Amino acid sequence: MTLIRPDLDTLPAYVPGRSVPGLIKLASNEVAEPPAAPVLEAIARAAAGGNRYPDLGVVELTARIAEFHDVAPERVAVGCGSVTLCQQLVQISCLGPGDEVMFAWRSFEAYPIVTQIGGADVRTVPLDGEFRHDLDAMAAAVTDRTRLIFVCSPNNPTGPAVHRAEFERFLETVGPDVVVALDEAYAEFVTDPEAVTGRPLLDAHPNLVVLRTFSKAYRLAGLRVGYALTSPDVATALRKVCPPFSVSSVAQAGAIAALENRDAILADLRPILAERDRVRTALVGDGFTVPESQSNFLWLPLGDRSAEFAAHCADQKVVVRPFQPDGVRVTVSSPEENDTLLAAASSYQPSSR
Ligand code: PMP
Repeated sequence: MTLIRPDLDTLPAYVPGRSVPGLIKLASNEVAEPPAAPVLEAIARAAAGGNRYPDLGVVELTARIAEFHDVAPERVAVGCGSVTLCQQLVQISCLGPGDEVMFAWRSFEAYPIVTQIGGADVRTVPLDGEFRHDLDAMAAAVTDRTRLIFVCSPNNPTGPAVHRAEFERFLETVGPDVVVALDEAYAEFVTDPEAVTGRPLLDAHPNLVVLRTFSKAYRLAGLRVGYALTSPDVATALRKVCPPFSVSSVAQAGAIAALENRDAILADLRPILAERDRVRTALVGDGFTVPESQSNFLWLPLGDRSAEFAAHCADQKVVVRPFQPDGVRVTVSSPEENDTLLAAASSYQPSSR
């Protein structure tokens, strides 16, 4: 007998984007500006009541999310960031070893971690040659032990979005007995009209879970609040495994104010979308391969030079996110910050190894 379960020794650590004082952080897909002014005011008001526990049922925020997406509140489960909802999804769908959680690779690095914490088996399917999900290959890889599938659209860290038609075909092929989580953490940055949005598919697919977050477009990463839209049964199960009081009163108030001010907050994203095109074009002009991105980041598939490129950028005062040995993800930010990145990328000389 051991004090701690031995399989935790092999649990990969989540590697956060580094924050280094004085350096520009383009490593965590955050928006660089602080939360919007009315959101900050709501946060301050909630913080003043911080001696009290938050609303356990997250009633008002749930109602606002339901209203915004035009779904019944029973279809909404709010969590302490969407990464925690990913973990809750493993908890509600998998009993333990032998049960499989499938996702494309490379994708969001928390998926293997939450799978392993849940005691289930990881099943990965490679992205295609354009760094997109290969949904046909994923559907073909489903076994009778597959309990949960994460589909990340746009895909972190590579950028492309899954298209509506291919995702609908995928849902039909997979069938109703596997939970399919469509992780839309970056939905607000999508401009491709063919990209999937999960909300219209919920009625026909009770096994579908749409994950959203307030961390990215709404600029509330530090508050930790995300939500799932799904069938009432799945939402109820997600709420059952959510530890009590996981969503703080500050997070609830901030998220409500963010929804109230949504139009203005999302209007602030427009320059980022223009910058996404400009930075990508400049990087391609410098000879980098950069897949088309529907998000607020770009992927440089630099292979085993990823760590070297990231170290070079850090020397040039920019922190990017290497995923050795696959590539480097860079957040698209303000024109000035992006210019610093572009200067660093232009001056990068691969070592002769
Ligand atoms: N899904 C994806 C694809 C992400 O990139 C992230 C954050 N990096 C999350 C979920 C988690 O977001 P949060 O927990 O901050 O809501």
